[in-house]
Amino acid sequence: MATEVPALFLSQIERYYPQADGPLEILRRADFAIWPGEMVALVAPSGTGKSTLLHVAGLLESPDAGEVFVGGTATSQLDDAELTRMRRTEIGFVYQFHHLLPELTALENVVLPQRIRGLGKREAESRSRELLTFLGLGERLDHFPSELSGGEQQRVAIGRAVANAPRVLLADEPTGNLDPQTSLHVFSTLMALARASGLAALIATHNLDLARRMDRQVTIRDGLVVPLD
Ligand code: ADP
Ligand code: MG
Repeated sequence: MATEVPALFLSQIERYYPQADGPLEILRRADFAIWPGEMVALVAPSGTGKSTLLHVAGLLESPDAGEVFVGGTATSQLDDAELTRMRRTEIGFVYQFHHLLPELTALENVVLPQRIRGLGKREAESRSRELLTFLGLGERLDHFPSELSGGEQQRVAIGRAVANAPRVLLADEPTGNLDPQTSLHVFSTLMALARASGLAALIATHNLDLARRMDRQVTIRDGLVVPLD
């Protein structure tokens, strides 16, 4: 029997910001694991450390102590090139604002990370077309971001995040900037994609209705990641 490892495992993570009157402690020996195929909602008030946790999980910031394992691989001792490779191939990140490149079409925005990884143009385009069609954007491939609605832009950003078939998808309030109906649509698409691909997803959201649709809900309390009650 193959031993399954968590897609992402945060072990004893500490993160603090120095301040004049002593460090501001955001995470204090926090543990958190997410398994392949699992969708977890991260629900916590503003300023509690959701973005910090996601940035640490996404290898965008180093923790002050502790270890981040991606697919069972410890990351604290990796050099910059190895970290970059891991961010590029193992992790997808979706922000509250889409951050699409304005001079590239929807298709080109999804092609780009695959080309950077070294995939051929034709293969990358074919995969991008398939992905965007799955996301309901088959008729919008050649639109520039400015020619897309907010919900469409965010779906392209999701396509870009999963373009390299990552193990883990991290999303920081991905529907925080959208109206309720659009949020639900974007979220449902994200959920269908996660289910179809078996990736693990950690999604920060203030929307309890959306959070309840996920497999598990966690929050940050006293610097720890704990189940939301
Ligand atoms: P959330 O995403 O839950 O709103 P954040 O992770 O962005 O919370 O921030 C958690 C806390 O850490 C906040 O109080 C914030 O002000 C503080 N913080 C975040 N980044 C920095 C930084 N670079 N320097 C100092 N304090 C920071
Ligand atoms: Mg935040």
